[in-house]
Amino acid sequence: MQSFQLMHPASVEAARTAAAAHGAKYIAGGTDLMQLMKNDVEAPDRLIDLEPLPLTRIVAENGSLRLEAMARMSDVAAHPVVRERFPVISQALLLSASPQVRNMGTMGGNLMQRTRCGYFRDTGFACNKRAPGSGCPAINGENRMLAILGGSTHCIAAHPSDLAVALVALDATVELYGVNGAQRTVPVRDFHREPGDTPQIENVLAPGEMIAAIVMPETPAARRSLYIKVRDRASFEFALVSAAVALQASNGTIQDARVAAGGVGTRPWHLPEVETALRGKTLNDQTLREAAAQAGLGARPASQNGFKLTLLRRTVLRALQTVAA
Ligand code: SF4
Repeated sequence: MQSFQLMHPASVEAARTAAAAHGAKYIAGGTDLMQLMKNDVEAPDRLIDLEPLPLTRIVAENGSLRLEAMARMSDVAAHPVVRERFPVISQALLLSASPQVRNMGTMGGNLMQRTRCGYFRDTGFACNKRAPGSGCPAINGENRMLAILGGSTHCIAAHPSDLAVALVALDATVELYGVNGAQRTVPVRDFHREPGDTPQIENVLAPGEMIAAIVMPETPAARRSLYIKVRDRASFEFALVSAAVALQASNGTIQDARVAAGGVGTRPWHLPEVETALRGKTLNDQTLREAAAQAGLGARPASQNGFKLTLLRRTVLRALQTVAA
């Protein structure tokens, strides 16, 4: 591991100023970044520790839920308001990682975690995401776990976050703090980028900008929401396919539907075509089946992951049937 300077800023402003330096990087729980540094995949000159900052609150008021960036995964998952009014968030977190990792991992860090593509994490291989222009061995190599949606000829890495999938389904936004006091809000759906010809650029953060909080509206659909994760083993494993759904119905008609998927896209994947096939329709099994069949339209599987399209549609259907029951 390359040596680095570790800074503990006393305020958000001090953190933003320190982060403006070339080669600087924020560190929150460190559960992913430390692994990447030990493997020489990441080599920052300066780490800015966000631990001292007062960004740990979980606040439900005025019809929304606000999760500050340093709130721990385990605390958010166990929070009674999250469990009751936003169950898909709690479930997505509990199906992530191990209890030890959830005790360290944070809301902001979860959105910043990097792909589990094995070539990316092994410096013995070429990888356009780690070393732009070096090539993508995954396209003709080991790609069973990788994306079938949103890929390019430069990269087909799947986004690994479960939480982000639930946030996309619930139409959440991220509050960003930039340098010189700048602030802005971005929908989570627009926060992560598809790889295109610059797979090394994974999100819309400007240099020095940090995630301050995640905010989502409290809706009847959010109360009736669910996260399903299909994976090779029952714990401490990333998704082959996952689905986050939220549904509101009255008098047998679907009023609102929110659907997103994980494990299949180069970013957390919104499924508006499924939502459109549900809204305003009669709530019955035929409607759910027809809607789930819309998932993944336009998918371009690689040599080893064609099974994900069928698995995606079955997972979305199972999630919809479960919340509708
Ligand atoms: Fe690298 Fe992306 Fe190719 Fe994986 S899929 S080897 S992360 S460029």
